[in-house]
Amino acid sequence: MAPRAVASSLEVRPYRLRLLQPLRTSHTTYQTREGFLVLAHEGGLTGRGEAAPLPELGTETLEQCGKELRRASFDHLPSTPAARHAVELALLDLRAQRAGVPLAMLLDPWARREVPVSALLSAQTMPELAREAQRAAAEGFATLKLKVGLDDDFARAAVVRDAVGPRMKLRLDANGAWSRELALRRLSELAPLGIELCEQPTEDLLGLRGETEVPIAADELLARDRSAAFERADMVVLKPMVLGGVLAALELGREALRRGLKVIVTTSLEGAIGRAGAAHLAAALLADGPQPSAGLATGRLLADDLCPDLLAPRSGLIRIPDAAGLGL
Ligand SMILES: [Mg+2]
Repeated sequence: MAPRAVASSLEVRPYRLRLLQPLRTSHTTYQTREGFLVLAHEGGLTGRGEAAPLPELGTETLEQCGKELRRASFDHLPSTPAARHAVELALLDLRAQRAGVPLAMLLDPWARREVPVSALLSAQTMPELAREAQRAAAEGFATLKLKVGLDDDFARAAVVRDAVGPRMKLRLDANGAWSRELALRRLSELAPLGIELCEQPTEDLLGLRGETEVPIAADELLARDRSAAFERADMVVLKPMVLGGVLAALELGREALRRGLKVIVTTSLEGAIGRAGAAHLAAALLADGPQPSAGLATGRLLADDLCPDLLAPRSGLIRIPDAAGLGL
């Protein structure tokens, strides 16, 4: 980058956000999310970025992230994924503000302004799960997502299907919990419930595509081995926080689209700033045509947030604000 004529500085603030209720996945249960808010000050403007490390998905730890951020500057972006995501997003927000355009338009001038999103269900008991699914349907969501690889997958998926009827899209995420044999058995049991796709049924996704009628999405595998993900999946999940930033995720998404795969942009359960960055990325990737609903409606799982969520979904859609930058 060129040397700067005006004073610029990065400010790093740790945060901790509580979830409204614990979120159970096949690996762990989340109760809180911790990370860092990054503010990039320059010429009277402030760009905002966020780091919410998720080591179980391949990012650095919270401690490493903090160290990387303390060493970062406008001209020295961190090398670890979540820290890099934060600084890059703050600088992109600044750039878009200076250009007077929403970040999505900076990423792609043909970006769409509406992003259909799915709702992640997190209720623990069957009656609560049915109510949560019905509430999401009443709010206008057309796609619901359920974590599987737990012991009661079929019963939980059936409860959701019964609660919302046949037209709702229902997607699953096993977070790599199954072996290939178990995945094929579980997916053939679940398929009659009408399954849109399953994220990461196994860790390596070997030998699944074409062996099950359920489309396969690569999520964790994409960060580890992008060519394996492109070969073995029908679609890829893009988490900018895990992939080292919005720009890296945009490049990967464009490569996936060139190869004929679909892309699903999702959050990593971060605060409103990271979610907004992911929403702008999703809007930019929609320039190439419709994609499965993005996994961006995760703010509803949090009890606290970093700032008012001006990109909160309404009727199952996130609208990209006209304001320059992130629009927050
Ligand atoms: Mg996933």
